[in-house]
Amino acid sequence: MAARPEFLSLNGRLVPFADARVHMLTPAFKYGACAFEGLRGYRDAQRAEVHVFRLREHLERLHFSMHVMRFEHHPSDAEMTQALRDVIRANDIVGDCHIRLMVWVDGEGEQTATGPIGWGIAAIARDPDPRVANGIHVAVSSWTRISDNAMPPRIKVTANYNNGRLSGLQAKTDGYGGVILLTSSGHVSETPGACVFLVKDGRLLTPSHTDDILESITRDTVLQLARRELGIEAEERPIARTELYAAQEAFLCGSGNEIQPILSVDRLKLGDGSVGPVTRRVQAAYFDAVRGALPGRQVWLTPMLGNAA
Ligand code: PMP
Repeated sequence: MAARPEFLSLNGRLVPFADARVHMLTPAFKYGACAFEGLRGYRDAQRAEVHVFRLREHLERLHFSMHVMRFEHHPSDAEMTQALRDVIRANDIVGDCHIRLMVWVDGEGEQTATGPIGWGIAAIARDPDPRVANGIHVAVSSWTRISDNAMPPRIKVTANYNNGRLSGLQAKTDGYGGVILLTSSGHVSETPGACVFLVKDGRLLTPSHTDDILESITRDTVLQLARRELGIEAEERPIARTELYAAQEAFLCGSGNEIQPILSVDRLKLGDGSVGPVTRRVQAAYFDAVRGALPGRQVWLTPMLGNAA
């Protein structure tokens, strides 16, 4: 279990862990009326800094989720960024961390309540995940991905995550380390918390954003790095299930999962069953980007400690 942070941020104020409470009658609890983001902060050893990766894009997506959910008030970017700095500093975080930023419908309203709005941030120190180096074995789920006209995956709201939870529970029961969901028309969509890339003949392939995925910021990062820094062609298009089995390599990507190699799908080995060379190149470029080691990509980094010159 992740270590408990001493302080959390609630409505812009630092509170001890035990005091960060939300009432059971809130629409957030009753109906899942809660928009959120998962972000990461990375240590930049050279500058003695912690940088949050692509904060601007995460805040933009959070506002979009709140907009579609018709929240009557949005906390401002300035307020949220300040609260994020406060909570990182209050917990003495000087290394890699995972951040959860949540905005919800508070009060005691019914299903269509749009306010009052509550918001909170947790930042928790996090060690490197061994699955990034070692890879995972995944299944294709028998659960179908939620769809744009029912519970749009393009908005990041907690209620959507029961679809991922059901597929994740099934995969765990069946002994897999991850799971890929298909759309109702049978296209490859995404995992419960990450997007999917395949490698075919040296090129990257990823489901199109109309195939019921969250428009992942890491997916965009991988596409940009592949096309510019790595000179690897990348295509976004609908992908059929059996294209998963035909891939030479595959990986999933997300702020939380980072870049995790997929070694097999439904127990069918991809390539020789080890982490492939294209996946390794993408991983290397990604970790250079998040750690401030890629010239030209520092605009993706927001300093939290204020130590940079
Ligand atoms: N899909 C889903 C369903 C997710 O929850 C996430 C994690 N936020 C992703 C994809 C990856 O998105 P991002 O790269 O923006 O973290």
